[in-house]
Amino acid sequence: MKHIFVTGGVVSSLGKGLTAASIGTLLERRGLKVTLQKFDPYLNVDPGTMSPFQHGEVYVLDDGAETDLDLGHYERFTSTKLTRFNNLTSGQVYQRVLDKERRGDYLGKTVQVIPHVTDEIQNRIREIGEKSDADVVITEIGGTIGDIEGLPFVEAIREFALNAGQGNVLFLHVTFIPYIKAAGELKTKPTQQGVAKLREIGITPDVLVCRCEKPLNKELRQKLSLFCNVQYEAVIEEIDVEHSIYEVPLMLQREGLDDLICRKLALDTPPADMSEWREIIRKLIAPRHRVRIGVVGKYVELQDAYKSVYEAVIHGGVANDCGVEIERVEAEDIEKNGAAKVLKGYGGILVPGGFGERGTEGKILAAQYARENNVPYFGLCLGMQIATIEFARNVLNLEGAHSVEFDADTPHPVIALLDEQQNVTDKGGTMRLGSQPCKLTPDSLAAKLYGSEEIHERHRHRYEFNNAYREQFESAGLVFSGQSPDGGLVEIVEVPDHSFYLASQFHPEFKSKPNEPHPLFQGFIAAAHACDHNKNV
Ligand code: GLN
Repeated sequence: MKHIFVTGGVVSSLGKGLTAASIGTLLERRGLKVTLQKFDPYLNVDPGTMSPFQHGEVYVLDDGAETDLDLGHYERFTSTKLTRFNNLTSGQVYQRVLDKERRGDYLGKTVQVIPHVTDEIQNRIREIGEKSDADVVITEIGGTIGDIEGLPFVEAIREFALNAGQGNVLFLHVTFIPYIKAAGELKTKPTQQGVAKLREIGITPDVLVCRCEKPLNKELRQKLSLFCNVQYEAVIEEIDVEHSIYEVPLMLQREGLDDLICRKLALDTPPADMSEWREIIRKLIAPRHRVRIGVVGKYVELQDAYKSVYEAVIHGGVANDCGVEIERVEAEDIEKNGAAKVLKGYGGILVPGGFGERGTEGKILAAQYARENNVPYFGLCLGMQIATIEFARNVLNLEGAHSVEFDADTPHPVIALLDEQQNVTDKGGTMRLGSQPCKLTPDSLAAKLYGSEEIHERHRHRYEFNNAYREQFESAGLVFSGQSPDGGLVEIVEVPDHSFYLASQFHPEFKSKPNEPHPLFQGFIAAAHACDHNKNV
């Protein structure tokens, strides 16, 4: 088994996760089995308890693990199946070490970062290899070299390499080469210093992936090679992509990165066949159609809060040969200025998942506007709860209808706490999480789009449609087209005789890939394009 360790230097947000995922894409297309994992230096056990301001999206896996959004990149760029073992945080490592200490596993010893914490991390690297039976394990170390929190992970991979044997481990360092406008030059000094920090710990990178706005010339490559002690051919340029993140694997292939990795790790494979991937890029760059989608949320200033939603919308576009312009709409803006004004001109409206009261009234107004004006509406998790609250208030005339999450004393709790949540007090990892089966109503829009009547989708919620109101909704025309197999939980609602009005309690966005666009997103974009309200404004 071969290991690639991906570290980052100079600054964060370099797209290390994308680089790791893209290497996965290339190696898979060379016929290798890969798996990817992320090490996160923070002390939270998982990111489930962090706000999008702190962390961006929480990505949910089939097994219910709440993980870093980089795992979303890994799943979208490869066919690897990830589990909770693919995301390790310092919090988990320390929890394990402390449990062992209490059990007496270290009896008589002083428990220390080296070797006890680093051993625990190394165990994890070995375990993931055994569990996945991959040819190559790609491990991304979160944060930036030099961070105090990240040190045990970097030390652990150094120790791991020591025992793994020559040719089995490759260190790949993603770094930043800033362009100084006034000097008209790319600068290598921060990278030299970053690599020096890595070498201080005892790691010399085998490959340097250089994130830059402008191309690296020969001279710069030579300089980086010399000062960073990396072979000239192992200085790889990763220039900002023009259109889409899905171009990254192709760019790295042009730079010869996958060839280089295979040579260094003695992996004998044919070149990567990227024809399918190229076709996706063509549709992304030069689509036949275009549509504008408004995503109504409350973290709209953040790039990463709804990462998987944006990606899935783009995949839905690829399936329809349709370029999607995604506009992030602030829900509170709708509260201030009215839905008609703010949402005018969008081909479709999407309300994603969320927690907390802020912006809910704006989202309810968005759902009402979409329903009443035949504009395609797609609700995800909270977006489904919003759709039912809106329907209750404006179609059933249930004044003050709400979710008990936002109004504990509402006279009409159409969204209520799940039964299984009644006695839950801990916040971490206690929602209804992960993949759950769902039965679809024959001939419903959902069943048509999926082309199946039994599906599995990922969940992350505490609240749920209140069955006491089911008949009232049904007699007013709302269709419950997806339910848990025992019929106890509503999973999908639809408004029939509408261009597209569908909302799910689950998160379909977590299962969409550029080469396997999710059927609901496909259907939503197709409807948005067909409606093309842009023409009417
Ligand atoms: N806050 C809602 C709930 O807990 C919705 C969650 C979500 O959108 N992920 O049920």
